Amino acid sequence: MFKKILSHHLRDIQGGMDDSMSPERYKVLRTKLVGLMAVVAALPLLVMAIINYHQTQTALNREVQNPLRAMLGKTKTSLELFLAERTSAVSFIVNAYPFQELSDEKALNRIFRVMKQEFEGFVDLGLIDSSGTQVSYAGPYNLKGKNYSEQAWFNQVRIKGKYISDVFLGFRMFPHVVIAVQHMSDSGESWILRVTLDTRQFDKLIAAMSLEPDSDAFILNREGVLQTPSNYYGKVLEKLPIDMPPATYESTVRPLVDPAGRDLFMSYIFSSDSDFVIMAMKPRASFTQTWYTVRSDLAFIFLSGLVLIFLVAYKITDLLLKRMSDSEMQREMAFKQMEHTQKLSSIGRLAAGLAHEVNNPLAIINEKTGLMRDLIRLKAEFPDRDKFLGLTDAVTKAVERCRGITHRMLGFAKRMEVKIEILDVNEIITETLEFLNKEASYRNVDIRLNLGDNLPHIASDRGQLQQVFLNIVNNALAAVADGGFISMTTWEKDLDTVGVSIQDNGCGMSEATLGHIFEPFFTTKKGQGTGLGLSITYGIIKRLGGELTVQSKVSQGTTFTMFLPKKPPEGAM
Ligand code: ADP
Repeated sequence: MFKKILSHHLRDIQGGMDDSMSPERYKVLRTKLVGLMAVVAALPLLVMAIINYHQTQTALNREVQNPLRAMLGKTKTSLELFLAERTSAVSFIVNAYPFQELSDEKALNRIFRVMKQEFEGFVDLGLIDSSGTQVSYAGPYNLKGKNYSEQAWFNQVRIKGKYISDVFLGFRMFPHVVIAVQHMSDSGESWILRVTLDTRQFDKLIAAMSLEPDSDAFILNREGVLQTPSNYYGKVLEKLPIDMPPATYESTVRPLVDPAGRDLFMSYIFSSDSDFVIMAMKPRASFTQTWYTVRSDLAFIFLSGLVLIFLVAYKITDLLLKRMSDSEMQREMAFKQMEHTQKLSSIGRLAAGLAHEVNNPLAIINEKTGLMRDLIRLKAEFPDRDKFLGLTDAVTKAVERCRGITHRMLGFAKRMEVKIEILDVNEIITETLEFLNKEASYRNVDIRLNLGDNLPHIASDRGQLQQVFLNIVNNALAAVADGGFISMTTWEKDLDTVGVSIQDNGCGMSEATLGHIFEPFFTTKKGQGTGLGLSITYGIIKRLGGELTVQSKVSQGTTFTMFLPKKPPEGAM
């Protein structure tokens, strides 16, 4: 799918490049290119960002949850060990001593004292016979003779042989736990040894978890009744205001919002040996805080990446399109130039043909006029002799003028004989100006020369260069008003090229005039000009391998700039 879109866009782009491009199409192409490049570059970034997002979240979760899990596991082991130790002690005594001995209160008290020395937390010890009656008792209360046959725990110990109670408040309103173990003798008689434990040991186990002050940990039974006090949820024997999770013997952590609105990680583990559940609550705030910081860092990196990609895509596209439009322009210019050259050369050929054709009749007219003049002179009494002589003179002059024009036309069309020599452009300029200085000073036109020092010499044709400068400066003289200026500047453009500019502050030219000045016979000097000067100049400079450009503004002036190569192109002459 993506490949298809991509190839579709590329085809579009190629199509766009083939046609001649309007600014509108460039705009569309730019949008498409930028879009495509941005999407292609941003896609991997997006994928990376998503992967990173999840990985970081998982890693952070793990970092918070793993210590909790480990702590719960450890506490569960300690709790089970605590209960197992005491249960085995009771089990040992009930199995090791006969009923008679245990029913003797003195003996029971002695055993109880030893037990208290060995294990912490024993409150009392009692022997109960199979009918549920307390036969003997060692401890702070007077419970001898009490009957337990109606109590649930008694029945359970009768069935299972062992029993560990939930926490309950004893007579002194202290939380206690009962462990009872039944002994079954070979003769079928049975009796039960019952100890009460004080649950301060449970509190110690919880305290050993050393959680942060804003966290909470406690022991519950499977019904959710607190067996140790909780920071969040109240005292022993109060009910946890949260539904009990399903039993699991692995430490489990899950997020939870409790009824008081606390955002917590709830972790718990069920004891497999008893009905106890160990639970710890840790506020998610610190995790959320870290996560938010990481997330905003990620977002920042992602967004700045996107912006960067977009900027680079935009810049590259811009550059690309600029190159394209430049080469398009160059192509167009070259095409126009070719058209222009073509036009000039065909006009040139036409002019040459015309000049040639006109030259013959002109020669005949000239010859016949000379003959006529001779005849008039020979005849002594020729009526209106002076008038006729004047007329023939006028014809000869007109023929001369026509000859001049045809000569120049032929010069434009054909190559005049060229002689390449090493020349100093500055020298040719000064020489040429000698022809024009008279007119310039007569009209008070200031000719300023800024000729470059150490201008490299070039290989070119002296006569043709003179003609070029003469034509341009002549036009400039015609364009400037009396008192105006013409400045000529020469410089070394680069190692192989000499630059010459001829600037005047004359009448300048309109855009329309500028478009035609290099065409033969184009002139604005009605009756005065032939319109051949610049076309000849242009032809010469091209032949010499140079360039000629012009800038002009109406009533501000004109600047002709030419670049002449140090060596004319091979076979140019
Ligand atoms: P001509 O000088 O015989 O008219 P050119 O080919 O030398 O023929 O010049 C063509 C036309 O270019 C001129 O008629 C004139 O309108 C314009 N032109 C050339 N040079 C200048 C200039 N320096 N300032 C203003 N117009 C100029």
